Amino acid sequence: MSTPPRRLEEIEFDNLFVRSLPADPSPDIRPRQVRHAAYTFTPPTPVSAPQLLAWSERLADQLGLRRPAPRDAAVEALAGNRVLAGMQPYAARYGGHQFGNWAGQLGDGRAITLGEMMDRHGQRQELQLKGAGPTPYSRHADGRAVLRSSVREFLCSEAMFHLGIPTTRALSLVATGDTVVRDMFYDGRPEHEPGAIVCRVAPSFVRFGHFEILTANDEPGLLKQLVDWVMHHHYPGLSDPADWFAEICCRTARLMVDWMRVGFVHGVMNTDNMSILGLTIDYGPYGWLEGVDMMWTPNTTDAQGRRYCYGRQPQIAYWNLTRLAGALAPLINDRDALDAALAGYEQTFAEGWSRMLSDKLGLPLPTPEDEQEQALRSQLFVLLQQEETDFTIFFRRLAQVDVDAALSGEVSALDPLLEAFYSPGSPSPEHARAWLAWLQQWAQRIRAGGETDVSRRTRMNATNPKYIVRNWLAQRAIDDAAAGDTAMLERLLVMMRTPYDEQPGFDDLAGKRPEWARHKPGCSALSCSS
Ligand code: AMP
Ligand code: MG
Repeated sequence: MSTPPRRLEEIEFDNLFVRSLPADPSPDIRPRQVRHAAYTFTPPTPVSAPQLLAWSERLADQLGLRRPAPRDAAVEALAGNRVLAGMQPYAARYGGHQFGNWAGQLGDGRAITLGEMMDRHGQRQELQLKGAGPTPYSRHADGRAVLRSSVREFLCSEAMFHLGIPTTRALSLVATGDTVVRDMFYDGRPEHEPGAIVCRVAPSFVRFGHFEILTANDEPGLLKQLVDWVMHHHYPGLSDPADWFAEICCRTARLMVDWMRVGFVHGVMNTDNMSILGLTIDYGPYGWLEGVDMMWTPNTTDAQGRRYCYGRQPQIAYWNLTRLAGALAPLINDRDALDAALAGYEQTFAEGWSRMLSDKLGLPLPTPEDEQEQALRSQLFVLLQQEETDFTIFFRRLAQVDVDAALSGEVSALDPLLEAFYSPGSPSPEHARAWLAWLQQWAQRIRAGGETDVSRRTRMNATNPKYIVRNWLAQRAIDDAAAGDTAMLERLLVMMRTPYDEQPGFDDLAGKRPEWARHKPGCSALSCSS
């Protein structure tokens, strides 16, 4: 942290993606099919009255950037009103499988990369605006984003980072001063909503779909070029594409373990929303488990099929990897190697899941043959789904259960957990007995493991966050921000920086979802409209 922070205007951009890969020769930004190119140069479309609503100090520190003053050129640049020296704005070309079906060309329909820069760790970072206007990939849509979805993306990107989960980041949130028309409920009553732009940051935004489109359109030369480029610059040390695919499988498996650990549901795991770097990407109708329910999804568009519900995410990631394998097949041409990599996904996930659950529960690592332990774990999820039980609060509070009381079957052992139940009369006497029996076995295993209580609690608390940005909290920040008040947004930004620590003064943000939020739009269920 030696050099003082600079203004965005002073950054020397070095646009490796643009420099290395073929551009679409046409500057036409009308919707169209693009071929034999990785991207199209696309300038952002200016907005009327940019206003900086939020800024991630932590990410800015990492980038060595100074927070811009309201009238700085940087705010104009982050709103797409000005292209700074060295920036070469482009929209990327990619395809994807949406809800299980090949959708053809998708591409950056409302994302525009401004340029790449080096952060303080010497890591290359791409700065990308989301909602900066139409591109050739916008299809029938407007290239814009509403404030509510932009606040949600801004908050969750930063929250995920501080939870220690690989993710794209968010630097800034700018209100555009323009309205955007959206039919939020898909009920034929579109409304004007305030528009906004998030500046997202990641080493690369390349997705599975970047490769899929090239194979689908029979462009093997460009496929090889893109694979070589991603391997060389983002997976240094790997030279065999089969090893590279195996590494993507492992990263994706670890990401799924992390999502499952914190109860995150992405909501739209289409292959165009899968990062080739194993990052969480494209925050849309995402959510966090409140009542434990394997079939839960916040995405109302997926309410019928529940393809992307909480419990299916690991399977879906695997399926998405099989699509990527298909796209890479012309290049790798070794079915066995691809299958071995996919098997590696399953193994990495299974091991990671088992270790993660041990940490969540404060238990020793089980052997696969330990049937009693496996039974204890599967029984836990049955119990958790019997009555509405808050996922985050339950696991966080489990560390406070008195092991000796649990061992002797004392009713008071349940006390710390009562806060996790949603209905006032919960758990029923019958369920309470089942919980006490479960806790007794849990306590026996803890004692058999011999770990000290201090060490076990530390391990549990480092795995089970106390603070997550629940949808209803984000919605309060959205409602306030829409009225010009960003205090809640700022408060959530502070809260999320140390999600595993007790933070006196923030306890009101660590509670269960209040009843009024159960069915309020944005607070539990969301549509894709954004
Ligand atoms: P998603 O699944 O929401 O990440 O988006 C799927 C595709 O639709 C991507 O190609 C997006 O760029 C595009 N898209 C979504 N919303 C818009 C919009 N408002 N304008 C243009 N393209 C969009
Ligand atoms: Mg997307």
